[in-house]
Amino acid sequence: MADLEVQNSNNSLENVVVVGSGPAGYTAALYAARANLNPILITGYQEGGIPGGQLMTTTHVENFPGFPDGIMGPELMDRMRAQAVRWGTRLIEADATAIDLSKRPYSVQVDGETISSHSLIIATGASANRLGIPDEAKFWSHGISACAICDGATPQFRNEQLAVVGGGDSACEEAVYLTKYGSHVHLIVRRDSLRASKAMADRVLANSQITVHWNRQLGSLAGTDWLEQLSLLTTEGEPAETLAVRGIFYAIGHTPNTRLLEGQLPLDNKGYLITQAGSPATAKEGVFAAGDVADSQWRQAITAAASGCQAALAAERWLSEHNLATTVSRQVVDPIAAEQPLKTEEVTEENFNPDALWQGGSYALRKLYHNSKKPLLVIYTSPDCGPCHVFKPQLRRILNELEGAAQGVEINLNDHNDIATQAGVTGTPTLQLFMGKELKQQWRGVQQRSSVKAAIEALL
Ligand code: NAP
Repeated sequence: MADLEVQNSNNSLENVVVVGSGPAGYTAALYAARANLNPILITGYQEGGIPGGQLMTTTHVENFPGFPDGIMGPELMDRMRAQAVRWGTRLIEADATAIDLSKRPYSVQVDGETISSHSLIIATGASANRLGIPDEAKFWSHGISACAICDGATPQFRNEQLAVVGGGDSACEEAVYLTKYGSHVHLIVRRDSLRASKAMADRVLANSQITVHWNRQLGSLAGTDWLEQLSLLTTEGEPAETLAVRGIFYAIGHTPNTRLLEGQLPLDNKGYLITQAGSPATAKEGVFAAGDVADSQWRQAITAAASGCQAALAAERWLSEHNLATTVSRQVVDPIAAEQPLKTEEVTEENFNPDALWQGGSYALRKLYHNSKKPLLVIYTSPDCGPCHVFKPQLRRILNELEGAAQGVEINLNDHNDIATQAGVTGTPTLQLFMGKELKQQWRGVQQRSSVKAAIEALL
């Protein structure tokens, strides 16, 4: 974090709080930080998607300028986050639970605290939709997934027929990605054309491992414990083909995350925040919106980032016009270099450390499972799984806080599919907690740090 000194003593009242951590939120925070406004950014954690937003569940981003060979979505978000932090953004890694715009200063509830702020930037993004068909709940995580990038590599989908529903860029990207793992991929499109960009559509149509089912909707799902078959309907709702697939991946668009603002700010008929024409300003003075939460039209990483920049500049201007800003001064003009994300080392017999807090690979797992007397966390990850990027640092933090009373091992599914099969892993991240060779608890997806820590402490 930059070396900053607050120039005014009223430290409990913030200049600007950014809510949301996609490209819009991080860019807004970066600009606010460089304007010496000492911003807080509430990253969100589980509600409305994971920190980093939708790019955390994509693969190659090929159209973000500056990366001529493309960049993986989670890596791009790691970099944006590091850049915002490098310039002094203070992160709160939790969900905002309430926002009160009824009076100024505005307030935001997070982590059991109330933060008061002169201005707010709402960058809460949008969450993935579900279809709501019969048996969706039964097969969720047992054949249905909303994230091909997180779950595609799991053993249940290897060399099986898979399906993707949707016709946008996400659906096309996921269909192509799943051809790495499945034997064949069916793309179910409800119209006779794709919404996706031409480059993405061409990639799908040229791929012989993908069959596009035009003018089809998902009708019903069948299987015992795991999905075995799905039935398609025509656009008129008449029965059509059945497909023997083991996995169906939803990519049917998003709904803006405006729950905390309902009744406080006007929304359009699709639920997006309404801003003033050509401006990030909302109907409330000092409240600005950025990114997908206020954009039903463009919804690109680059347009979200640009609108985050606009929102921060507008907030800065509004604060100074009203003489509200309490700026910080920088003692170090150039902050230290941004933090690099930690990579887990896969250890062997030669460099295995029985006391290490965190290491990777099957050798470490075998040794610690058999010999460690401490609670053992095992996290199953897959390459490029954004939720894994989010969850791993939280687990490391727990282990650091417990000062060696528990240990952790990371198993990468791409290298250790056999172990994942034995462990019954159905998606990533999966976290298992062992003690004395006994499985005590298992979690799927990103969890609250407090619940994992409590489960470990109960064993100590
Ligand atoms: P999207 O563009 O909104 O597409 C959603 C797709 O799901 C559409 O084809 C839609 O059909 C279909 N759909 C919606 N509800 C459905 C239902 N009930 N049953 C069946 N199909 C349904 O969403 P997205 O693909 O997630 O993309 C979101 C934004 O991110 C877009 O702006 C996209 O360009 C961008 N993106 C970019 C990249 C990239 O450039 N690398 C990658 C991913 C996403 P209709 O077409 O009939 O409405």
